Amino acid sequence: MVLLNEAIGIVSKSVSVLKGEEQVALAESLDRVLAHDVVSDINMPPFRKTAVDGYACRAADLDSPLRVIEVIAAGTTPQRAITQGTCSKIMTGSPIPNGANCVIPVEDTKILPDGTISFTADKSKSNICELGEDIKIGESPLSKGTLIRPQHIAIMAALGCHSPIVLVRPKVSILPTGDELVEPTEIPHGSKIRNSNGHQLIAQVLSAGAIPIYHGIVADTEEVIEKAIARALTETDVVVLTGGVSMGDFDYVPRIMERLGVRILFDSIAVQPGRPTTFGVAGNKLIFGLPGNPVSSFIQFELLVKPSLLMMMRCNTPYAPIYRLPLANDYSRKRAERLGLFPIIVNANGEVEPLEYHGSAHIFALARANGIASIALGVNKMKKGELVDVRSI
Ligand code: AMP
Ligand code: MG
Repeated sequence: MVLLNEAIGIVSKSVSVLKGEEQVALAESLDRVLAHDVVSDINMPPFRKTAVDGYACRAADLDSPLRVIEVIAAGTTPQRAITQGTCSKIMTGSPIPNGANCVIPVEDTKILPDGTISFTADKSKSNICELGEDIKIGESPLSKGTLIRPQHIAIMAALGCHSPIVLVRPKVSILPTGDELVEPTEIPHGSKIRNSNGHQLIAQVLSAGAIPIYHGIVADTEEVIEKAIARALTETDVVVLTGGVSMGDFDYVPRIMERLGVRILFDSIAVQPGRPTTFGVAGNKLIFGLPGNPVSSFIQFELLVKPSLLMMMRCNTPYAPIYRLPLANDYSRKRAERLGLFPIIVNANGEVEPLEYHGSAHIFALARANGIASIALGVNKMKKGELVDVRSI
Protein backbone atom coordinates (compact mmCIF):
# COMPACT_ATOMS: atom_id res chain seq x y z
CA MET A 1 0.00 0.00 0.00
CA VAL A 2 1.35 3.45 -0.95
CA LEU A 3 0.36 6.87 0.32
CA LEU A 4 -1.70 9.00 -2.04
CA ASN A 5 1.17 11.44 -2.61
CA GLU A 6 3.49 8.54 -3.38
CA ALA A 7 0.97 7.18 -5.89
CA ILE A 8 0.70 10.59 -7.56
CA GLY A 9 4.52 10.75 -7.74
CA ILE A 10 4.82 7.24 -9.20
CA VAL A 11 2.24 7.99 -11.90
CA SER A 12 3.83 11.30 -12.84
CA LYS A 13 7.29 9.70 -13.14
CA SER A 14 5.84 7.08 -15.49
CA VAL A 15 4.44 9.55 -18.00
CA SER A 16 6.09 9.98 -21.41
CA VAL A 17 5.24 13.09 -23.35
CA LEU A 18 3.44 12.33 -26.61
CA LYS A 19 5.17 13.26 -29.84
CA GLY A 20 3.26 15.20 -32.42
CA GLU A 21 1.62 18.55 -32.89
CA GLU A 22 -1.36 19.64 -34.92
CA GLN A 23 -2.86 22.88 -36.09
CA VAL A 24 -6.48 23.46 -35.13
CA ALA A 25 -9.11 26.17 -35.56
CA LEU A 26 -9.28 28.65 -32.72
CA ALA A 27 -12.49 27.37 -31.09
CA GLU A 28 -11.28 23.79 -31.37
CA SER A 29 -8.20 24.61 -29.33
CA LEU A 30 -10.27 24.74 -26.13
CA ASP A 31 -8.84 22.33 -23.50
CA ARG A 32 -5.82 21.60 -25.70
CA VAL A 33 -2.22 22.44 -24.79
CA LEU A 34 -0.23 25.06 -26.71
CA ALA A 35 2.83 23.61 -28.45
CA HIS A 36 4.60 26.96 -29.01
CA ASP A 37 4.70 30.39 -27.41
CA VAL A 38 2.21 32.84 -28.88
CA VAL A 39 4.09 36.00 -29.86
CA SER A 40 2.34 39.32 -30.31
CA ASP A 41 2.56 40.89 -33.78
CA ILE A 42 0.96 44.12 -32.54
CA ASN A 43 0.96 46.54 -29.64
CA MET A 44 -2.13 46.49 -27.48
CA PRO A 45 -3.68 48.91 -27.44
CA PRO A 46 -2.40 49.59 -30.96
CA PHE A 47 -2.98 53.36 -30.48
CA ARG A 48 -3.62 55.76 -27.56
CA LYS A 49 -7.31 55.32 -26.84
CA THR A 50 -10.00 56.42 -24.45
CA ALA A 51 -11.29 54.06 -21.77
CA VAL A 52 -14.57 55.98 -21.39
CA ASP A 53 -17.24 57.80 -23.37
CA GLY A 54 -16.62 61.51 -22.76
CA TYR A 55 -14.73 64.57 -23.93
CA ALA A 56 -11.04 64.58 -24.83
CA CYS A 57 -9.42 67.78 -23.63
CA ARG A 58 -6.49 69.35 -21.77
CA ALA A 59 -6.51 68.73 -17.99
CA ALA A 60 -5.39 72.35 -17.44
CA ASP A 61 -8.60 73.66 -19.08
CA LEU A 62 -11.16 71.94 -16.84
CA ASP A 63 -12.06 75.04 -14.84
CA SER A 64 -13.68 76.78 -17.83
CA PRO A 65 -16.34 75.69 -20.37
CA LEU A 66 -15.02 73.75 -23.36
CA ARG A 67 -16.08 74.13 -26.98
CA VAL A 68 -16.76 70.84 -28.84
CA ILE A 69 -14.86 70.78 -32.15
CA GLU A 70 -15.40 67.19 -33.34
CA VAL A 71 -17.19 63.91 -32.58
CA ILE A 72 -14.86 60.90 -32.68
CA ALA A 73 -16.50 57.50 -33.18
CA ALA A 74 -14.72 54.17 -32.55
CA GLY A 75 -12.99 53.02 -35.72
CA THR A 76 -12.42 56.57 -37.04
CA THR A 77 -9.35 58.83 -36.96
CA PRO A 78 -9.55 62.24 -35.23
CA GLN A 79 -9.19 65.11 -37.71
CA ARG A 80 -8.62 68.03 -35.36
CA ALA A 81 -6.13 68.77 -32.60
CA ILE A 82 -7.25 69.94 -29.19
CA THR A 83 -6.14 73.46 -28.30
CA GLN A 84 -6.80 75.60 -25.25
CA GLY A 85 -10.53 75.74 -24.42
CA THR A 86 -11.60 73.05 -26.88
CA CYS A 87 -12.57 69.40 -26.61
CA SER A 88 -13.78 66.56 -28.84
CA LYS A 89 -16.64 64.28 -27.94
CA ILE A 90 -15.16 60.77 -27.97
CA MET A 91 -16.51 57.20 -27.71
CA THR A 92 -14.85 54.37 -25.76
CA GLY A 93 -12.04 52.75 -27.75
CA SER A 94 -11.48 55.72 -30.10
CA PRO A 95 -8.02 57.24 -30.70
CA ILE A 96 -7.13 60.27 -28.57
CA PRO A 97 -6.82 63.43 -30.69
CA ASN A 98 -3.50 65.29 -30.69
CA GLY A 99 -3.19 67.87 -27.96
CA ALA A 100 -5.49 66.08 -25.46
CA ASN A 101 -4.11 64.64 -22.24
CA CYS A 102 -7.31 63.55 -20.56
CA VAL A 103 -10.85 62.36 -21.24
CA ILE A 104 -13.57 63.52 -18.87
CA PRO A 105 -16.43 61.00 -18.60
CA VAL A 106 -19.86 62.06 -19.92
CA GLU A 107 -21.28 61.47 -16.43
CA ASP A 108 -19.03 64.25 -15.07
CA THR A 109 -20.15 66.90 -17.56
CA LYS A 110 -23.05 69.22 -18.22
CA ILE A 111 -24.01 70.86 -21.54
CA LEU A 112 -24.44 74.61 -21.07
CA PRO A 113 -27.13 76.59 -22.98
CA ASP A 114 -24.52 77.88 -25.49
CA GLY A 115 -23.53 74.26 -26.33
CA THR A 116 -20.22 74.31 -24.44
CA ILE A 117 -19.32 71.60 -21.94
CA SER A 118 -18.65 72.17 -18.29
CA PHE A 119 -16.84 69.72 -16.03
CA THR A 120 -18.93 68.98 -12.92
CA ALA A 121 -16.63 66.77 -10.82
CA ASP A 122 -13.69 67.80 -8.62
CA LYS A 123 -11.01 65.77 -10.33
CA SER A 124 -10.55 63.57 -13.37
CA LYS A 125 -8.22 60.66 -14.07
CA SER A 126 -6.63 60.69 -17.53
CA ASN A 127 -8.87 57.80 -18.71
CA ILE A 128 -6.35 57.22 -21.51
CA CYS A 129 -4.98 53.77 -22.34
CA GLU A 130 -1.42 54.24 -23.60
CA LEU A 131 -0.15 52.57 -26.77
CA GLY A 132 1.24 49.12 -25.91
CA GLU A 133 0.45 49.36 -22.19
CA ASP A 134 -1.07 45.83 -22.14
CA ILE A 135 1.41 44.14 -24.46
CA LYS A 136 4.17 45.16 -26.88
CA ILE A 137 5.15 43.73 -30.26
CA GLY A 138 7.33 40.65 -29.76
CA GLU A 139 6.18 39.91 -26.22
CA SER A 140 4.73 36.50 -25.47
CA PRO A 141 1.59 36.53 -23.31
CA LEU A 142 0.93 32.77 -23.67
CA SER A 143 3.70 30.25 -23.33
CA LYS A 144 3.88 26.71 -24.63
CA GLY A 145 2.35 24.27 -22.18
CA THR A 146 -0.66 26.51 -21.52
CA LEU A 147 -3.90 24.61 -21.13
CA ILE A 148 -6.17 26.65 -23.38
CA ARG A 149 -9.23 28.16 -21.67
CA PRO A 150 -11.77 30.55 -23.25
CA GLN A 151 -9.85 33.59 -21.95
CA HIS A 152 -6.73 32.38 -23.79
CA ILE A 153 -8.76 32.14 -26.98
CA ALA A 154 -9.53 35.87 -26.64
CA ILE A 155 -5.80 36.59 -26.54
CA MET A 156 -5.05 34.42 -29.57
CA ALA A 157 -7.91 36.07 -31.49
CA ALA A 158 -6.59 39.53 -30.60
CA LEU A 159 -3.05 38.65 -31.68
CA GLY A 160 -4.07 37.03 -34.96
CA CYS A 161 -3.12 33.49 -33.86
CA HIS A 162 -6.11 32.04 -35.70
CA SER A 163 -4.93 28.43 -36.04
CA PRO A 164 -2.88 27.58 -32.96
CA ILE A 165 -0.52 24.62 -32.92
CA VAL A 166 -1.33 22.26 -30.08
CA LEU A 167 -0.02 18.94 -28.79
CA VAL A 168 -1.68 15.76 -29.99
CA ARG A 169 -4.16 14.31 -27.51
CA PRO A 170 -3.71 11.01 -25.70
CA LYS A 171 -6.11 8.23 -26.68
CA VAL A 172 -7.64 6.61 -23.64
CA SER A 173 -9.32 3.18 -23.67
CA ILE A 174 -12.23 2.86 -21.28
CA LEU A 175 -13.06 -0.67 -20.15
CA PRO A 176 -15.76 -1.04 -17.50
CA THR A 177 -15.68 -4.61 -16.19
CA GLY A 178 -18.52 -6.44 -14.46
CA ASP A 179 -21.06 -9.16 -15.25
CA GLU A 180 -23.65 -7.15 -13.33
CA LEU A 181 -23.50 -4.23 -15.76
CA VAL A 182 -25.96 -3.25 -18.47
CA GLU A 183 -25.81 -0.11 -20.58
CA PRO A 184 -28.00 2.93 -19.78
CA THR A 185 -30.29 2.06 -22.71
CA GLU A 186 -31.40 -1.09 -20.86
CA ILE A 187 -33.61 -1.73 -17.86
CA PRO A 188 -31.54 -3.53 -15.23
CA HIS A 189 -33.43 -6.63 -14.07
CA GLY A 190 -32.64 -8.83 -11.09
CA SER A 191 -29.08 -8.35 -9.89
CA LYS A 192 -28.02 -6.08 -12.74
CA ILE A 193 -27.09 -2.39 -12.46
CA ARG A 194 -26.51 0.23 -15.09
CA ASN A 195 -22.96 1.04 -16.10
CA SER A 196 -22.45 4.57 -14.85
CA ASN A 197 -18.67 4.52 -14.60
CA GLY A 198 -17.96 3.90 -18.25
CA HIS A 199 -19.93 6.96 -19.29
CA GLN A 200 -18.63 9.12 -16.45
CA LEU A 201 -15.11 8.20 -17.60
CA ILE A 202 -15.85 9.12 -21.22
CA ALA A 203 -16.86 12.56 -19.95
CA GLN A 204 -13.86 12.85 -17.65
CA VAL A 205 -11.48 11.96 -20.48
CA LEU A 206 -13.13 14.55 -22.72
CA SER A 207 -12.93 17.20 -20.04
CA ALA A 208 -9.23 16.42 -19.63
CA GLY A 209 -8.79 17.28 -23.32
CA ALA A 210 -8.06 13.66 -24.34
CA ILE A 211 -9.78 11.21 -26.69
CA PRO A 212 -11.95 8.50 -25.12
CA ILE A 213 -12.13 5.15 -26.89
CA TYR A 214 -15.02 3.28 -25.33
CA HIS A 215 -14.74 -0.49 -25.53
CA GLY A 216 -18.12 -1.36 -24.00
CA ILE A 217 -18.82 -3.54 -21.00
CA VAL A 218 -16.18 -6.22 -20.42
CA ALA A 219 -17.38 -9.52 -18.92
CA ASP A 220 -15.80 -10.85 -15.72
CA THR A 221 -13.97 -13.74 -17.36
CA GLU A 222 -10.21 -13.94 -17.60
CA GLU A 223 -10.13 -14.56 -21.36
CA VAL A 224 -12.43 -11.65 -22.18
CA ILE A 225 -10.61 -9.22 -19.90
CA GLU A 226 -7.21 -10.34 -21.19
CA LYS A 227 -8.22 -9.88 -24.80
CA ALA A 228 -9.75 -6.48 -24.08
CA ILE A 229 -6.69 -5.18 -22.23
CA ALA A 230 -4.29 -6.55 -24.87
CA ARG A 231 -6.22 -4.81 -27.64
CA ALA A 232 -6.50 -1.57 -25.67
CA LEU A 233 -2.74 -1.57 -25.02
CA THR A 234 -1.97 -1.82 -28.70
CA GLU A 235 -4.52 0.79 -29.80
CA THR A 236 -4.24 3.55 -27.22
CA ASP A 237 -1.80 5.44 -25.00
CA VAL A 238 -3.65 4.93 -21.75
CA VAL A 239 -5.97 2.17 -20.56
CA VAL A 240 -8.52 2.78 -17.81
CA LEU A 241 -10.44 -0.16 -16.42
CA THR A 242 -13.02 -0.02 -13.68
CA GLY A 243 -13.99 -2.85 -11.39
CA GLY A 244 -12.30 -6.17 -10.86
CA VAL A 245 -9.41 -4.83 -8.81
CA SER A 246 -10.51 -5.67 -5.27
CA MET A 247 -10.55 -8.92 -3.28
CA GLY A 248 -13.53 -10.69 -4.89
CA ASP A 249 -13.33 -14.13 -6.50
CA PHE A 250 -13.81 -12.60 -9.95
CA ASP A 251 -11.43 -9.66 -9.55
CA TYR A 252 -8.97 -10.74 -12.21
CA VAL A 253 -7.66 -7.42 -13.47
CA PRO A 254 -4.28 -7.14 -11.63
CA ARG A 255 -3.23 -10.70 -12.41
CA ILE A 256 -4.17 -10.33 -16.08
CA MET A 257 -2.19 -7.11 -16.29
CA GLU A 258 0.85 -8.98 -15.01
CA ARG A 259 0.31 -11.83 -17.44
CA LEU A 260 0.30 -9.30 -20.28
CA GLY A 261 3.67 -7.96 -19.18
CA VAL A 262 2.37 -4.87 -17.43
CA ARG A 263 4.75 -3.80 -14.66
CA ILE A 264 2.50 -3.06 -11.69
CA LEU A 265 3.84 -0.12 -9.70
CA PHE A 266 1.19 -0.13 -6.98
CA ASP A 267 -1.96 -2.07 -6.29
CA SER A 268 -3.42 -0.22 -3.34
CA ILE A 269 -3.40 3.32 -1.97
CA ALA A 270 -3.98 4.43 1.62
CA VAL A 271 -6.98 6.48 0.58
CA GLN A 272 -10.71 6.18 1.01
CA PRO A 273 -12.40 5.80 -1.39
CA GLY A 274 -10.09 4.15 -3.89
CA ARG A 275 -7.91 1.72 -1.92
CA PRO A 276 -7.63 -1.05 -4.56
CA THR A 277 -6.56 1.36 -7.32
CA THR A 278 -3.96 -0.44 -9.40
CA PHE A 279 -1.42 1.18 -11.69
CA GLY A 280 1.10 -0.26 -14.09
CA VAL A 281 3.12 0.48 -17.20
CA ALA A 282 3.75 -1.44 -20.39
CA GLY A 283 6.50 0.33 -22.34
CA ASN A 284 5.32 3.93 -22.51
CA LYS A 285 1.64 2.98 -22.03
CA LEU A 286 -0.09 3.60 -18.73
CA ILE A 287 -2.75 1.33 -17.34
CA PHE A 288 -5.06 2.18 -14.46
CA GLY A 289 -7.35 -0.29 -12.75
CA LEU A 290 -9.84 1.88 -10.88
CA PRO A 291 -12.30 0.52 -8.31
CA GLY A 292 -15.80 -0.29 -9.54
CA ASN A 293 -17.77 2.12 -7.43
CA PRO A 294 -18.42 5.29 -9.38
CA VAL A 295 -17.42 7.80 -6.68
CA SER A 296 -14.06 6.02 -6.22
CA SER A 297 -13.58 5.83 -9.94
CA PHE A 298 -14.40 9.53 -10.34
CA ILE A 299 -12.05 10.67 -7.60
CA GLN A 300 -9.14 8.42 -8.59
CA PHE A 301 -9.45 9.59 -12.19
CA GLU A 302 -9.24 13.21 -11.05
CA LEU A 303 -6.28 12.54 -8.74
CA LEU A 304 -4.21 10.19 -10.90
CA VAL A 305 -5.41 9.82 -14.48
CA LYS A 306 -6.22 13.42 -15.38
CA PRO A 307 -2.83 14.83 -14.34
CA SER A 308 -1.08 12.12 -16.32
CA LEU A 309 -3.12 12.94 -19.46
CA LEU A 310 -2.23 16.60 -19.11
CA MET A 311 1.45 15.78 -18.56
CA MET A 312 1.43 13.64 -21.72
CA MET A 313 0.39 16.81 -23.55
CA ARG A 314 3.26 18.73 -21.87
CA CYS A 315 0.77 20.85 -19.96
CA ASN A 316 2.43 23.10 -17.41
CA THR A 317 -0.66 24.94 -16.23
CA PRO A 318 -1.69 24.20 -12.64
CA TYR A 319 -5.25 23.00 -13.14
CA ALA A 320 -6.57 21.82 -9.78
CA PRO A 321 -5.62 24.19 -7.00
CA ILE A 322 -6.31 23.07 -3.44
CA TYR A 323 -8.12 25.63 -1.28
CA ARG A 324 -7.84 25.65 2.53
CA LEU A 325 -11.26 26.56 3.87
CA PRO A 326 -12.97 26.43 7.28
CA LEU A 327 -15.39 23.61 8.12
CA ALA A 328 -18.98 24.76 8.63
CA ASN A 329 -19.67 21.89 11.06
CA ASP A 330 -17.78 19.30 13.07
CA TYR A 331 -16.75 16.30 10.97
CA SER A 332 -15.92 12.82 12.17
CA ARG A 333 -15.30 9.36 10.78
CA LYS A 334 -15.02 5.96 12.42
CA ARG A 335 -11.68 4.81 11.05
CA ALA A 336 -8.62 6.83 10.22
CA GLU A 337 -6.09 4.41 8.74
CA ARG A 338 -6.39 6.01 5.29
CA LEU A 339 -6.52 9.55 3.98
CA GLY A 340 -10.25 10.29 3.64
CA LEU A 341 -11.88 12.11 0.75
CA PHE A 342 -15.51 13.19 0.98
CA PRO A 343 -17.95 15.24 -1.08
CA ILE A 344 -18.67 18.73 0.24
CA ILE A 345 -20.36 21.97 -0.69
CA VAL A 346 -18.53 25.25 -0.26
CA ASN A 347 -21.41 27.42 0.90
CA ALA A 348 -22.03 31.10 0.18
CA ASN A 349 -19.89 32.06 3.20
CA GLY A 350 -16.92 30.15 1.88
CA GLU A 351 -17.33 27.40 4.50
CA VAL A 352 -17.13 23.67 3.85
CA GLU A 353 -20.32 21.68 4.44
CA PRO A 354 -19.83 17.91 4.28
CA LEU A 355 -22.74 16.25 2.44
CA GLU A 356 -24.73 13.27 3.59
CA TYR A 357 -22.67 10.52 2.00
CA HIS A 358 -23.38 6.80 2.09
CA GLY A 359 -20.14 5.65 0.54
CA SER A 360 -18.50 5.24 -2.82
CA ALA A 361 -21.60 4.10 -4.72
CA HIS A 362 -23.47 7.29 -3.69
CA ILE A 363 -23.30 9.21 -6.96
CA PHE A 364 -26.07 11.56 -5.84
CA ALA A 365 -23.88 13.00 -3.08
CA LEU A 366 -21.05 13.47 -5.58
CA ALA A 367 -23.40 15.19 -8.02
CA ARG A 368 -24.53 17.68 -5.35
CA ALA A 369 -20.94 18.43 -4.36
CA ASN A 370 -18.86 21.31 -5.67
CA GLY A 371 -15.71 20.00 -4.05
CA ILE A 372 -13.93 17.05 -2.48
CA ALA A 373 -12.42 17.65 0.96
CA SER A 374 -9.70 15.58 2.57
CA ILE A 375 -9.04 14.49 6.12
CA ALA A 376 -5.53 13.30 6.90
CA LEU A 377 -4.56 9.73 7.64
CA GLY A 378 -4.64 9.24 11.43
CA VAL A 379 -7.25 11.97 12.00
CA ASN A 380 -10.87 11.02 12.64
CA LYS A 381 -12.34 14.25 13.99
CA MET A 382 -12.20 17.84 12.82
CA LYS A 383 -13.89 20.77 14.51
CA LYS A 384 -16.08 23.48 12.98
CA GLY A 385 -13.82 26.32 11.86
CA GLU A 386 -10.75 24.10 11.34
CA LEU A 387 -9.18 24.51 7.91
CA VAL A 388 -9.66 21.65 5.50
CA ASP A 389 -8.13 21.07 2.03
CA VAL A 390 -10.68 21.27 -0.77
CA ARG A 391 -10.30 20.46 -4.46
CA SER A 392 -13.08 21.94 -6.54
CA ILE A 393 -14.86 19.62 -8.98
P1 AMP B 1 -15.75 -4.18 -8.15
O1 AMP B 1 -14.63 -3.19 -7.98
O2 AMP B 1 -15.79 -4.84 -9.47
O3 AMP B 1 -15.77 -5.15 -7.01
O4 AMP B 1 -17.08 -3.33 -8.02
C1 AMP B 1 -17.37 -2.61 -6.83
C2 AMP B 1 -18.79 -2.09 -6.88
O5 AMP B 1 -18.94 -1.17 -7.92
C3 AMP B 1 -19.83 -3.16 -7.14
O6 AMP B 1 -20.98 -2.88 -6.35
C4 AMP B 1 -20.14 -3.01 -8.60
O7 AMP B 1 -21.43 -3.47 -8.94
C5 AMP B 1 -20.01 -1.52 -8.79
N1 AMP B 1 -19.64 -1.22 -10.16
C6 AMP B 1 -18.66 -1.83 -10.86
N2 AMP B 1 -18.57 -1.33 -12.09
C7 AMP B 1 -19.52 -0.36 -12.18
C8 AMP B 1 -19.92 0.53 -13.22
N3 AMP B 1 -19.32 0.50 -14.41
N4 AMP B 1 -20.92 1.39 -12.97
C9 AMP B 1 -21.52 1.40 -11.75
N5 AMP B 1 -21.18 0.61 -10.73
C10 AMP B 1 -20.19 -0.28 -10.94
MG1 MG C 1 -16.63 -6.34 -10.48
